[in-house]
Amino acid sequence: MRRQNLRSTISDDVADDDSQPVMVPRSDRTLAATSPERARRLRKHLVTTLRKMKGRAHPVSPLRPEPVGFGARVAHAACSLCKGWCCKGGGDHAFLDEPTIARVRSERPELDTHAVVRLYGEHVPLVGYEGSCVFHGKHGCTLDRSLRSDVCNSYFCSGLHSYMTGSDAATPVVVIAGEGGKIHTSPVLLP
Ligand code: SF4
Ligand code: SF4
Repeated sequence: MRRQNLRSTISDDVADDDSQPVMVPRSDRTLAATSPERARRLRKHLVTTLRKMKGRAHPVSPLRPEPVGFGARVAHAACSLCKGWCCKGGGDHAFLDEPTIARVRSERPELDTHAVVRLYGEHVPLVGYEGSCVFHGKHGCTLDRSLRSDVCNSYFCSGLHSYMTGSDAATPVVVIAGEGGKIHTSPVLLP
């Protein structure tokens, strides 16, 4: 409760009367060389997943379309300012489950299992955020949308989800990321 009060006071200060605040967290993780162990754990996860799929039909996860219009700009500004706080859940598996791999293989039928493992391995950044997803590099996610899991393609944290699902797209927005003494704000985003 204390945290919420603090955040609402800050949002009143930062956002002017005509703009709507969108509040998101902010990652303070640091960059470090990606260890070979992390890449190995990813490979192991993929090999295990592909083995489980062998000879069996699997549901194919949908490739959801990217947000468009002003909502897309707000989401981009929020996730950039936040620096991928939610990606910590990706660990060394990045939510790459059977339906995701089934989608990747259906879109790239020429890839055998080794090629799928190699494809993902090539996207592991040399330098990434410690304690975050193995694909969380300096400039964000190193996977394009077609290689990401449905979890990654559909997730919005609560502040961004509220905005994306219920807000007036004609109102200017200010993104407020972080809390305490580490607040970062975007410029006023105009529709
Ligand atoms: S969805 Fe929310 S927590 Fe995840 S990167 Fe975007 S702003 Fe950050
Ligand atoms: S695959 Fe990309 S979007 Fe998904 S958790 Fe990892 S870094 Fe984040």
